[in-house]
Amino acid sequence: MTDSSPPERRFADLGLSDSLLATLSELGYESPSPIQAATIPALLAGGDVLGQAQTGTGKTAAFALPILARFDPAASKPAALVLAPTRELAIQVAEAFHRYAAHVCGFHVLPIYGGQAYGPQLAGLRRGADVIVGTPGRVIDHLEKGTLKIDALDTLVLDEADEMLRMGFVDEVGKVLERIPESCQKVLFSATMPDAIRRIADRHLRDAEHVTIRSKTTTAASIHQRYWIVGGVHKLDALTRILEVEPFDAMLVFARTRVATEELAGRLEARGFSAAALNGDVPQKQREKIVERLKRGDIDILVATDVAARGLDVDRISHVVNYDIPYDTEAYVHRIGRTGRAGRSGEAILFVAPRERGMLRAIERATRQPIEAMSLPTAVDVNEKRMERFHESVAETLESAELERGREVLRSTQAATGASTEDLAAALVLMARGDQPLLREEKSSGATTRRAYKASPSHPVRPDAGPQTAHGKDRRGDEPRNYQQKRKRDAGADFVTYRVAVGRAHGAKPGNIVGAIANEAGLSARQIGRIDIHDAWSRVDLPSNLSKGALDHLKKVWVAGQQLDIALDDGSLPAATSGRSVRPEDPASRTTPQEKTGGRKGKETGRGSLEKPGRGQRPKSSAGDGARSSSADKPKRSQNRPPRNRSERKALLGRRKSK
Ligand code: AMP
Repeated sequence: MTDSSPPERRFADLGLSDSLLATLSELGYESPSPIQAATIPALLAGGDVLGQAQTGTGKTAAFALPILARFDPAASKPAALVLAPTRELAIQVAEAFHRYAAHVCGFHVLPIYGGQAYGPQLAGLRRGADVIVGTPGRVIDHLEKGTLKIDALDTLVLDEADEMLRMGFVDEVGKVLERIPESCQKVLFSATMPDAIRRIADRHLRDAEHVTIRSKTTTAASIHQRYWIVGGVHKLDALTRILEVEPFDAMLVFARTRVATEELAGRLEARGFSAAALNGDVPQKQREKIVERLKRGDIDILVATDVAARGLDVDRISHVVNYDIPYDTEAYVHRIGRTGRAGRSGEAILFVAPRERGMLRAIERATRQPIEAMSLPTAVDVNEKRMERFHESVAETLESAELERGREVLRSTQAATGASTEDLAAALVLMARGDQPLLREEKSSGATTRRAYKASPSHPVRPDAGPQTAHGKDRRGDEPRNYQQKRKRDAGADFVTYRVAVGRAHGAKPGNIVGAIANEAGLSARQIGRIDIHDAWSRVDLPSNLSKGALDHLKKVWVAGQQLDIALDDGSLPAATSGRSVRPEDPASRTTPQEKTGGRKGKETGRGSLEKPGRGQRPKSSAGDGARSSSADKPKRSQNRPPRNRSERKALLGRRKSK
């Protein structure tokens, strides 16, 4: 296997404006994907592009950024039309434009697709949109009604062209191609290149730049490769189960963006694992420290971007988890090459969203290695491991020199309570579990059945869930996500949703918010429900019986340099959070479905719950070198609960001894 890193590419070299570069940096994009690096300069130069790329390669930004770079606020007709095969894709692409246009004043994108009432689409078209993203049938309807004009179009994008043809839209695509101006730039992206697509390309594209993702190299046979198709359980929960059950030494987890590495490391920390983030923003000195800590075993999990993991050479990395799928096979080979080093064997796990199956197949083809389907550890597996660890830690404590003191306490407690030894031991087991159940409950035997997780407040939102429909349900038909509705949790207290004035842009992570609220309001982590982090603010579910005094106090608590300013959430989206003016009726300027669901491309949503520590789990003594939280923000062990694991016990004993 080759160990050479893929060549360094930089967004700044592609000819994009400073404001677009600033947006990309804010989104945490560190470097262009191969498709972006090849497509963006070609499109900026005005040429046509024929790209072979599937979902997950970053193709949307590859065409959206050049279109935004040419945006003319004075134009009165749409400058670009993107045809997409499905409404889901049309919505996703429109959202992507919206995200990338965060600093492009006056830009409007309008999704139009079948199944939606004509009224809002007609209103949107009348108001004027700069980019239309539509499904072929509905676009043709509007063209024929005269409600959509494409005679001034600068760019036409056919996204997932093979899929459009497979769905029978060949005539519609043809009609659109006939109606655009001669000078219009054409971009055709397709996962496959059947003859029908080639014929369209030959007929309509001029001197097109052919762009394809590289498929290269073989992987080392010493690396055992598995994949899991994301579904039912959200990715964070899946990773947590793997961390609890899979024996590992150190694990390298790959996420796409800087922001994602920080969020994920924070969430793992909040669940009691010793994790740190490594991304392009981490200064060299800090990076060296983090790598040193990983080598020493102070950190067991590193969440990194591709850029940051370049050249990482740590023998104890036994596992690589591709939490976000890589852009191409070359990046995959490079990622998994971080394990199986120094003659050891390694494990590689790939999370694949259903839409990313094409990339999985490409990786299998390119690496010529089988990648095994894996099933997630079930609650039974997790519980077995937890019991094993519990037995181990009891056995270890039985060896302790302090056991006699324990016996004394036991005898006096027995005398005071009159309880049997067995009952006393049982009570101590319950106390030892702290705020967390020792065993995990699973209502259904299928670890990956959606039903088992969908309605449980302890698994509230899948970050990978798709867009919602207008009725507030996600498109897979799950529960409505009404933030104002009270939720019952574990048959316990009612929850209500509050809004706090601290968000991702301030550097807050779920762990910071949980920690601060838990400490300051005297709540346990279990009493804190779902956390939904947005850029400038967040939502958090708290018990409905929280006292006014506690709330007044929480208002003034500082997290990530901001006062929480907590208030009941009325379900509306706070104004001007994106720094861009929004038109109320503009579908693209509404809360994105992902914002509501914590969806794949948007804000991740999660509960900063503290899971029982497993392999590689530690008490949260530090946020890691890559984390930005201050110590006041971190969850602290509640004074009233017993130490949760060996490290906590040691720390407590150490403190007692030094008293
Ligand atoms: P796409 O293939 O366009 O559907 O993009 C797949 C995912 O990759 C989306 O969530 C994008 O937000 C994300 N993405 C695209 N380009 C980059 C990049 N250069 N760095 C990090 N994430 C990216």
